[in-house]
Amino acid sequence: RSILGAGATREDEALEASIRPQRLDEYLGQQPVREQLGIYIEAARARGEALDHVLIFGPPGLGKTTLSHVIANELGVNLRVTSGPVIEKAGDLAALLTNLQPHDVLFIDEIHRMSPVVEEVLYPAMEDFQIDIMIGEGPAARSIKLDLPPFTLIGATTRAGLLTAPLRDRFGIVQRLEFYTPEELTKIVRRSARILGIDCEADGAGEIARRARGTPRIANRLLRRVRDYAQVRAGGRIDMDVAQAAMAMLKVDPEGFDELDRRLLNTIIGHFDGGPVGVESLAASLSEERGTLEDVIEPYLIQQGFLVRTARGRMATSKAYRHLGLAVPTRETG
Ligand code: ADP
Repeated sequence: RSILGAGATREDEALEASIRPQRLDEYLGQQPVREQLGIYIEAARARGEALDHVLIFGPPGLGKTTLSHVIANELGVNLRVTSGPVIEKAGDLAALLTNLQPHDVLFIDEIHRMSPVVEEVLYPAMEDFQIDIMIGEGPAARSIKLDLPPFTLIGATTRAGLLTAPLRDRFGIVQRLEFYTPEELTKIVRRSARILGIDCEADGAGEIARRARGTPRIANRLLRRVRDYAQVRAGGRIDMDVAQAAMAMLKVDPEGFDELDRRLLNTIIGHFDGGPVGVESLAASLSEERGTLEDVIEPYLIQQGFLVRTARGRMATSKAYRHLGLAVPTRETG
């Protein structure tokens, strides 16, 4: 999935780091999240305490990692970054935790993918700033308690429902990121263009924003690809026409759908009569992983009203038929 970044280059990553917001006032959109976190951060600082643990959920590319950087910066503490699948053993987590300075932030991406054994270690760490670790093996093994400095855990996940209840319950602050509006994404594109020195007119930025699937990461990627196009074909300046031509070349349509989005809708309509079809059958037909469909592709299609999720499976809506230029079937309701 090129636009979402399965094939991100090293150059892309370096650029991404240069445009990542560092402070709360550079973190655009997500108004309720910003307002609430601003208050919690200020209160924790004034009390001289670590911020309560924060769970952030939302589809990929909406700014979970960025928000954790912003929180650590606003708190004036260090940030350690890791992810659920990387922490293989309880000892790995213990090493991370015991190296924290007081009030530091530990960010665990994909926290739902932590192993149960590791998760067990996290519970007392979050609750009492203590861990129990086993030393030795067999009959001589014993458990010792270690005190940890007070710290803030920030966990990120695509869907809150993927977490076990005991883990979810240990977060005092839970924030859900929403898809961004085209207006918010326009601001993000214009800010990135300014930082990267890209000549981008307001209407060009707006066109990129409208086709970015509500997602800052996609908006920034599109901006860079449109810049390449503008550089070679249009004297370096991005306006509405250039943006449209570049995105036609990238096969990103006016709704911001790429080939996989269209293939998904076409498959439901062409192979499954518009649905309902179960996610497993759909994934098999598309040769995609179920998780990719559920976390990356579907949320935006559902939010935009092209797809509905029913108890019996996914269904394409009349909006989907119209978008693909197909006649809307008259269905028996039931
Ligand atoms: P996630 O961790 O949710 O997958 P990231 O935090 O990596 O997403 O965000 C992807 C990119 O989008 C970042 O590099 C950042 O530049 C940009 N971005 C995300 N959220 C915002 C925001 N609120 N304002 C401006 N840019 C943002």
